[in-house]
Amino acid sequence: MHTNIIALLPDHVANQIAAGEVVQRPASVVKELLENAIDAGATHIKLIIKDAGKALIQVIDNGKGMNPFDARMSFERHATSKISSADDLFTLTTKGFRGEALASIAAVAQVELKTKQENDVVGQHIIIEGSKFIEQTECQTATGTSFTVKNLFFNIPARRNFLKNDQVEQKHIIDELERVAIPHTNIHFILQSNGNEILNLPAGNLLHRIKSLLGNYIQKELAPIAENTDFVKVSGFVSLPDAAIKTKKEQYFFVNNRFIKNPFLNHAVYEAYKELIGYQSHPRYFLFLELDPKHIDINIHPTKTEIKFTDDRMVYMLLVSAIKRALGKANAAPSIDFDVEQSLDFNSASNNRIVTAPTISYDKNYNPFHSIENKTNLQKTNKQHWENLFDGFKSSNGNDLNSTKEQTVIEQKNIEQQVFQTLKKEALEFSVFQLNLKYLITTFNNNVLVIDQQRAHERIMYEFYLNTKAETKIASQQLLFAEQLEFSANDFNLITNLMAEFKLLGFDIEPFGKNSMVVNGTPADLQDFNIAQTIDSILETYKLNTIDAKLEKHDNLCRAIAKNTCIKYGKVLETDEMKQLVGHLFNCENPMYTANGKVIIMETNYTDIDKFFKR
Ligand code: ADP
Ligand code: MG
Repeated sequence: MHTNIIALLPDHVANQIAAGEVVQRPASVVKELLENAIDAGATHIKLIIKDAGKALIQVIDNGKGMNPFDARMSFERHATSKISSADDLFTLTTKGFRGEALASIAAVAQVELKTKQENDVVGQHIIIEGSKFIEQTECQTATGTSFTVKNLFFNIPARRNFLKNDQVEQKHIIDELERVAIPHTNIHFILQSNGNEILNLPAGNLLHRIKSLLGNYIQKELAPIAENTDFVKVSGFVSLPDAAIKTKKEQYFFVNNRFIKNPFLNHAVYEAYKELIGYQSHPRYFLFLELDPKHIDINIHPTKTEIKFTDDRMVYMLLVSAIKRALGKANAAPSIDFDVEQSLDFNSASNNRIVTAPTISYDKNYNPFHSIENKTNLQKTNKQHWENLFDGFKSSNGNDLNSTKEQTVIEQKNIEQQVFQTLKKEALEFSVFQLNLKYLITTFNNNVLVIDQQRAHERIMYEFYLNTKAETKIASQQLLFAEQLEFSANDFNLITNLMAEFKLLGFDIEPFGKNSMVVNGTPADLQDFNIAQTIDSILETYKLNTIDAKLEKHDNLCRAIAKNTCIKYGKVLETDEMKQLVGHLFNCENPMYTANGKVIIMETNYTDIDKFFKR
């Protein structure tokens, strides 16, 4: 007797499973709905969210709308108006084409659609919940389409619980909106969240759009790019080298107006800036590549942010030369030899063949990723300053015990202190060496310790700043030339709010007219840093920290300063510096983890090593 055990999944189950691929979080819904609105030719798109999209996501567009049949069809899986045969995939110009977004969204939320075409008198109103069709009626509505998505994952509590807090989810939504809004500057976008208008981006050109996202100041920090070959057209804006920042923000690639991620092309950008910006500095870029869709394969990832070119080495080289040339024109890179780039004839590749480089030779097997990991620091080591960094630490450590604390606590601390002192002394006697400019290797108690140099120093700096009290305020060293900094309105509010904390930590900062501050002094050890960039990235980290965790101001600021002023990977450390670093690490309250909980030390047991060799 044989029992059949295979059965087709019911549609709603299949839809729910497939939805997992398309809809990970509210931002994925936003992306799909915005793209549909753009594909429908809208010139005005309003996005309304409540509770970071968890309660409500609504997209209202003035596009071409749908007729009663299409309105119902649009929710079917593989229902699309955008392609009709597999060949069409190679000539795609729309955002969507898989016809799965609406089916997927309707499988995991309560969805309402109102839509009307220009020549129709009444529109269509459809309600679908968890793939279940509820009703379709006629309604009064403006020409265009409005999708309302309520209670995402209402029928999959596990997925709903998996969502992050509102700040994080809203940040994802804003990211998606920006990725769509930057290339479509002819469309007016509005974002409203919990009743407040958060973004209002009127139609205009690319520079208008970038300015309305980042502030007018950005204009003087950007160089325009325009490069045309038969194979690919490159346009957009990149940071002037002096305007490079310490965090990776605003790095956008758009291929045929679609946002994509591509580490290979990202590397090309950094290659173009090589020697123009410091180690750990990052350019902003808004780069648009246009090429014949037949040279692209977008369909390698369901959410379509990854992309493959038929000849990515050529795109790489073209990008490097386009950026160098743009920076050169902006007079930012007078020392670069442009002749080499100019002699490369990119147009010769238009006949679909691999480019042959007639005038310069390049290594075809060159892999730009090989050298990333162990790239050495461009900054020279400055031992003197590095050591000074700890002067305050040494003297303040140990005598900051609160006298009101109970005796036993003090005793306990003293014992710990002694232990740490011994550890520190031993560590100083050990030999330490550096691995790959990233790890410090040493031994302790017959165990091998691998210490992450950046995290270790971040911990040390963090505790150094954290232990600062009003009485042990960090001395500020006056700058030779006070520096004036300009901020966005938001950052200005933030820094004003943090002024007292900054002062405590040795930053002598005061307001100086509208949205600007003047820095008169910094902690002595930061004199070598680029003040503007450092403060900018400190604020950035501070803001990120407020998203991820609830921290008090002082703690948060200490974390942010430590993170942005600590020794980085890639820094060559002298033997003495390594020993001091290890010593100071063992002097920390918690040498094992960074403030954000990342592991600092890996310890390999002697017996484990022994076991290994018994095999
Ligand atoms: P795809 O975009 O891949 O075609 P979707 O599931 O996102 O698949 O949408 C299915 C179809 O519904 C689209 O092909 C389009 O014809 C129609 N549609 C979706 N959103 C809109 C809209 N805002 N305005 C007009 N038509 C739309
Ligand atoms: Mg779509």
